Amino acid sequence: MNPLNLAKDLFFPRICAACENILTPYENHICVSCHIHLPKFTPDDITKEILSKKFWGKIPVKNTYSFLQFTKNGPVQRILHQLKYRNKTELAVYLGKWFGNELKINDFDKEIDLIIGVPLHPVKKKRRGYNQADCFAKGLSESLQVPYNEEALIRVSFTETQTNKSRFKRFRNMEGVFEVEKPDLIKNKRIALVDDVLTTGATLEVAGLELLKAGCQELSILTIAAAL
Ligand SMILES: [Zn+2]
Repeated sequence: MNPLNLAKDLFFPRICAACENILTPYENHICVSCHIHLPKFTPDDITKEILSKKFWGKIPVKNTYSFLQFTKNGPVQRILHQLKYRNKTELAVYLGKWFGNELKINDFDKEIDLIIGVPLHPVKKKRRGYNQADCFAKGLSESLQVPYNEEALIRVSFTETQTNKSRFKRFRNMEGVFEVEKPDLIKNKRIALVDDVLTTGATLEVAGLELLKAGCQELSILTIAAAL
């Protein structure tokens, strides 16, 4: 352990993104206890089916996997909050690598050619300084050894998903929000579309539809967390 890092830990203690306990010098982002106890989905067929149901009758999705199970006020909500508002880009990369290693056990790396994060509107990205979905995609890309791309799909409208609207209105509201900027990169590719959290699936549905319209051969969905 670098003595300088030890001193830094002493004056600016780093805390676990999930439970907020102080990390030891040998832990990064998530403490050992949370590593074991975080509510993870098992990447098996049952989970895949439960999560894929969110897209049934809407868009054809080959696989839907989420890493962590979202519960209100739970550790996973704390993690998501930090990814969104606390500039925790390295945490998103870290989670991507961790999830990717687990997906590799099921040979998921052999089922995709490209990873794409759900884009933020450029104004929003500039304000936040990063897109947490892209950071997660980068981590997945490193462990799965599958390329990721941040420019093929873009967000052209600022519209947010509005959870108080009906599914249909929400969908209509989001039409035209995303555009494929580089169709050559999308055509005939098996793509994993990546986001931080899967709730209603409306955003992923609209973004995924654009990829399919551009000739994406097979679409899978990967998210850091999902609410059942
Ligand atoms: Zn912890």
